[in-house]
Amino acid sequence: MEKTTKKKKAGRSAVIRHPKGRRVRQTAFAEVDALLEDKPRTRDSLIEFLHLIQDKYNCLTESHLAALAHELKVSFAEVYEVATFYAHFDVVKDSAPPLPPLTIRVCDSLSCEMQGAQALLVDLLEKAGKDIRVLPAPCMGRCDHAPVAEIGHYHAEKATTAKVLEAAKNGQIGPEIPTYTDFRQYREDGGYSLLWDCLTDAYSADEIIDTLSQSDLRGMGGAGFPAGQKWSFVLKEPGPRLMTINADEGEPGTFKDKFYLETDPHRFLEGMLIAAWAVEATDVYIYLRDEYPGARKILQTEIAKLEAAGLSERVNIHLRRGAGAYICGEESAMLESIEGKRGLPRHRPPYISTVGLFGRPTLNHNVETVFWVRDIIEKGAHIFANQGAHDRKGLRSYSVSGRVKKPGVKLAPTGTTMNELIAEVCGGMEDGHTFKAYLPGGASGGILPANMADIPLDFGTLEEHGCFIGSAAVIVLSDKDNMRDVALNLLRFFEYESCGQCTPCRVGTEKAVKMMTPKKWDTPLLTELCDTMTSASICGLGQAAGNPILSVIKHFPEDFE
Ligand code: SF4
Repeated sequence: MEKTTKKKKAGRSAVIRHPKGRRVRQTAFAEVDALLEDKPRTRDSLIEFLHLIQDKYNCLTESHLAALAHELKVSFAEVYEVATFYAHFDVVKDSAPPLPPLTIRVCDSLSCEMQGAQALLVDLLEKAGKDIRVLPAPCMGRCDHAPVAEIGHYHAEKATTAKVLEAAKNGQIGPEIPTYTDFRQYREDGGYSLLWDCLTDAYSADEIIDTLSQSDLRGMGGAGFPAGQKWSFVLKEPGPRLMTINADEGEPGTFKDKFYLETDPHRFLEGMLIAAWAVEATDVYIYLRDEYPGARKILQTEIAKLEAAGLSERVNIHLRRGAGAYICGEESAMLESIEGKRGLPRHRPPYISTVGLFGRPTLNHNVETVFWVRDIIEKGAHIFANQGAHDRKGLRSYSVSGRVKKPGVKLAPTGTTMNELIAEVCGGMEDGHTFKAYLPGGASGGILPANMADIPLDFGTLEEHGCFIGSAAVIVLSDKDNMRDVALNLLRFFEYESCGQCTPCRVGTEKAVKMMTPKKWDTPLLTELCDTMTSASICGLGQAAGNPILSVIKHFPEDFE
């Protein structure tokens, strides 16, 4: 169909004829088709396909998006809304000048900001040159080596301007692969024997679930739901059932899952396959954050090996790549993203154990939760459960960063206190710093003063103080840190990462940042705003965004008045 347009041209009316609808650069169809090769053109692969285009062309032009929409037989609007939702996709007009070939991202989340990220960012913006784009970015999961900058897909830790520009100049832009226990070493150590026993009916699913329940293994992603109970709930639902692994740990201060994926990936994979066997899942989707390219390479390599060995014949393993959206760590938003949509959290009920991925009953676990399955079954539930401190059960992997001498992933008894963590596990405070406060559970878990550092760190112990442990992302603060600045950094993060679906969170986080920026706070109004976000937001991001503000108002009034 043709559309006729009247246009004033050189003082007279000219009639221009062109096809109705979006104008698409014709070569874009062939370019997208070549990239997709013989991959099935399924709607849920949309984000994977966007990555293919972005990786090849360094951006997503409107013509490429239109060609992809044509390939998937969906509307341009659907592709466009997904592409523009995720921070790691650069959507540009066809007529736009090309983007610089290299992007450097500087993490400006709390642990990095405490170690000079803003100065690094300003310096790089000044010195990087026109062929390099420099952007601020949220947490990259390397908080124990702050400040961090990403050059292409290479992460410079304890980054300086010289170090970052040297890497860029040398073309050091690929992920670094650390030394890890590979398939052969893992098998030599008895790995996959337990899975084999399960597959050959030496154990029943009920036996495994009973042992997990006795061990008190909880969901380590933040919610702390008992793992054995979760498996039972899903198993009761009619098949076919699915399983998802949430490897999108984006909570500022959390990096434990990355540690396990990059050191002992098969212990995680074996636990995952045992869980999939127990609930009779037909497919497992691992949703890995895009900030972990090294872990992605490791998983691609090692999953291929276990598939070749015939250990995953009963289940299809899909490795999916996030695209820079913190909200996709929320389990229902993650499912939306796996389905190739924007990561908008769903309303509940129904819960995902009933209506989950693609509408099927779904077992979702955090990486660390299934990492412990082999140890618990082989060594006995009581061995795991008996390791708690202060009347708590089990072990926790605390991601510790901030003003301590030895930050890192610290495996310690569940219920260890902050004072014990600093003194006995982290080598004490950094020289010249006096312990002032701590974040027990990342950006959303609130802030507690040093005089409340004898509380056992576990699920259910911090809530009465307006805090929670979540994924145990512990950030230690000192007398050199201003708590107003700390809370403002966290709220800027929430403002940036709000998915925008509901007004209390979308508008509330923005207003909070505006109200926190002046030196003196309007505390009654800020408190009212926090109450509104907590009670009226759809998901945990908006519900918990006020925690740092309320903590500072309660414990550190001298820092904002
Ligand atoms: Fe999105 Fe925030 Fe609402 Fe959650 S609370 S659904 S992140 S707008």
